[in-house]
Amino acid sequence: MSLNRVFMSPARYVQGPHCLEKLKEYTDKIGDKLIIAISAGGKKRLEKTLMSSFDDNKPTLHVFNGECSQTEINRLTDLIRTGGYNVVCSVGGGKLHDLAKAAAFHTKQPCVIVPTACSNDAPCTAVSVIYTEEGVVESFLFTDSPRLVLVDTDIIAKAPVRTLVAGIGDALATYIEARASKQKDCQTAAGGIAGVTGIALARLCYDTLLADSVKAKLSNEAGVPSVALENVVEAATLLSGLGFESGGLAAAHAVHNGLTVLEESHAYLHGEKVAFGVMTQLFMENAPMEEIETVANYCLSVGLPIALSDIGLTNASDEALMKVAAVAAAPHDTAVNLPFHVSAETVFAALKAADAYGRMKHTQR
Ligand SMILES: [Zn+2]
Repeated sequence: MSLNRVFMSPARYVQGPHCLEKLKEYTDKIGDKLIIAISAGGKKRLEKTLMSSFDDNKPTLHVFNGECSQTEINRLTDLIRTGGYNVVCSVGGGKLHDLAKAAAFHTKQPCVIVPTACSNDAPCTAVSVIYTEEGVVESFLFTDSPRLVLVDTDIIAKAPVRTLVAGIGDALATYIEARASKQKDCQTAAGGIAGVTGIALARLCYDTLLADSVKAKLSNEAGVPSVALENVVEAATLLSGLGFESGGLAAAHAVHNGLTVLEESHAYLHGEKVAFGVMTQLFMENAPMEEIETVANYCLSVGLPIALSDIGLTNASDEALMKVAAVAAAPHDTAVNLPFHVSAETVFAALKAADAYGRMKHTQR
């Protein structure tokens, strides 16, 4: 039976400086009893802003223990049920959003996501990653798209620059992976095949990044939400999320997953490892030299990794890299979405070739 074209997205996406101060205005359309999952640090920094738009009937803050485990999900699920909350919100980073998405899904309540950094493209998607108590990925839960994603760019502009660069790395992969996955009409995270929409959004994401990332990074360094920063945040949060969810994944993320087996890479952010995964995928595809040069020069211009030494793997042995390749090439991962035969050997060869190229680029600078 043929697969349908499926496109998913949040019902509303709001982005701009100080938009968090209008939280009530936006959530009033959804429900009147909010519970907000937040870290202890986030509560300290943002409680005043979060409460500023509410006169009475203020939201309840639920302080999160740090791991999106089944225990934490159950804890929030019970609170939502017993407290009769009808809006489940998270303010912070990835694991908090995973928690809110899962608890909202289990209680059939709408979910509101407020990212406080632009470090990955998860906020606009329905995917929730569940971890063990020890912080190891346990499973993926496919929930519903958030009802609202609210991105306060005054907060994002003041977040560490490294988080924005990582978000850019994650978003750089979106078009490269969707383009490849579409060639075989592979099933996407949205549960169908990509139509023209997912691919077009992925391409727009890529073009926006290439045009505006250097300016955006400089704005982040200056702590101000310039037009370029607004464009890149929109690309890395909205376009990238929709582009991968409804456009498809391929080798860049599978290589990232492989790299996580090496302890030395753990100090590096998701998007930093994904960026090297992009270079590796381009070598697997034997992409035209012009494209490889464009992507590598772009990575260098914003400070994204292009060689193994950039992600802590200066002395990685062939044996270690073969382990990475084996994980990346596993049949349940997404490198096999590439439109040609993928094996651990072909991933290994591309890892080494991409690294050799990246090292050459570094010596040319
Ligand atoms: Zn990603």
